[in-house]
Amino acid sequence: MKHQIDGHTKLLGVIGDPIEHTLSPVIHNTLNEILGRNCVYVPFHVKETGLRSAVLGAFDLNVFGMNVTVPHKNAVMDVLQEVDEVAKAIGAVNTLVRSENGYKGYNTDMEGLQRALHSDGISLKNRTVVLLGAGGAAKAVAYMCIQEQAKAVYILNRTLEKAKAIAASMNEWFHCNVMQAMTLEEAGSLPQEPWIVFQCTSLGLPPHTDAVVIDDGMFYQNVEIGVDLIYNPAETRFMHLVKEAGGRAYNGLKMLLYQGIIAYELWNEVSVTEQQAETVYDRLYETLHGTGDNLVLIGFMGCGKTTIGRELERQYGYAFLDTDAYIERRLGKSISRVFEEDGESYFRELETAVLQEMIRTASHCVIATGGGMPMRRENIRLLRELGHVCYLTVSEQGVWERLKDSHDRPLLECEDPRARIRDLLNEREPVYRQAAHVIVQTENRKPEEIAEIIYQNRTGCESNESISSERTKY
Ligand code: NAP
Repeated sequence: MKHQIDGHTKLLGVIGDPIEHTLSPVIHNTLNEILGRNCVYVPFHVKETGLRSAVLGAFDLNVFGMNVTVPHKNAVMDVLQEVDEVAKAIGAVNTLVRSENGYKGYNTDMEGLQRALHSDGISLKNRTVVLLGAGGAAKAVAYMCIQEQAKAVYILNRTLEKAKAIAASMNEWFHCNVMQAMTLEEAGSLPQEPWIVFQCTSLGLPPHTDAVVIDDGMFYQNVEIGVDLIYNPAETRFMHLVKEAGGRAYNGLKMLLYQGIIAYELWNEVSVTEQQAETVYDRLYETLHGTGDNLVLIGFMGCGKTTIGRELERQYGYAFLDTDAYIERRLGKSISRVFEEDGESYFRELETAVLQEMIRTASHCVIATGGGMPMRRENIRLLRELGHVCYLTVSEQGVWERLKDSHDRPLLECEDPRARIRDLLNEREPVYRQAAHVIVQTENRKPEEIAEIIYQNRTGCESNESISSERTKY
């Protein structure tokens, strides 16, 4: 639900210098929308000299929460009523929460990364962790590693003194001796066991996306899990090297997501669900990577994706592609045989690979997708990156009428295909809705009419209607 700005609208914001590239408004305004809050979140460009008056002024203007970003995360602490203990230890505040006489400062970067790791099933307990970099972000990561009970934490930095300062302050704060500082050149003397590595330097950011802090392939042999705090590009060279050596790699987008969600929870005293978090993540992803100029047709088998795709090709000059046909051509066998000989999960892997390839290669195409394609969470993001996603709806009766004599649908080769259609439709319908930019009802409509509706509404994908359950419907 969207609100008009009125006399009750509350104000949230972020201060930084520069601020133009911030993604925080995407996070918070999406949450405002999903949760139906009459609230707006805006960026404020605040210079160092104006920091004090900006924070005091925001309080007087009744701004009820603020984020703080580079370069003010440390200096802002002097202007606050109170600073949370964790933020004090990290020496940086990124969230201001209103209290009676001023703002209280928190650091949600640390907990944001913690929540991101948990959501990916990564535990640091008793693990050897390596931190590359010793800037502002590395300190929050260092805190989190010790709090999560890592066995040993090695912090490697170009400037050794900065790494030493973080190690000393963390060991002192936690009354332990878990952290040790080293230069980058000393990486060869790290203990030879599997590591979890956090890439906390700014190397790899655009325009130097090929840069990486350690290029030696030997280093990556020990990296079981590599987390790059950078989120744009989606795969950094560091991540590529981790994967090439057989490790798992993650970027920093989830950290960004959860630091925002935690701030939002602090301001609003709400709990954001995992499903809501996923919607925000999808919106962030789309903002970063855009949406291609293709039309993507999704929906249950028999909903008419091929017929309507061909119609869009005929009427509007799109090139028609079909993901199932693409896979069949690649493997030289039918989808039924792939299911039979290689299993469904192998087929789903292929679908993801095909989407990734099409994102790189397809332009001005209409793409008919397999009915189960959006069931993989990762595929929803890829589908929306590929193009404007149109869900073609069909009823159980409609599917039955169209497919009852068909023999090339492996999922319907069972004793009671009608019941199977019902079950699958119930399972898939909410996922199709979530994946779609637009929903088009197909029954009792001619293909020309449906193609025209899709074509006429193809540019609405950036509209806000597309993110909640209230999709644009035709
Ligand atoms: P910072 O304080 O400026 O620290 C930069 C770090 O990178 C320092 O350790 C610096 O080493 C190192 N570095 C820079 N250029 C280098 C080079 N040519 N060779 C070797 N090391 C180099 O930055 P930060 O605030 O910690 O941010 C670090 C990264 O984390 C950024 O890419 C930022 O975008 C990302 N980040 C992501 C999130 C998220 O939510 N995902 C949150 C915060 C930060 P020296 O100390 O020797 O200069």
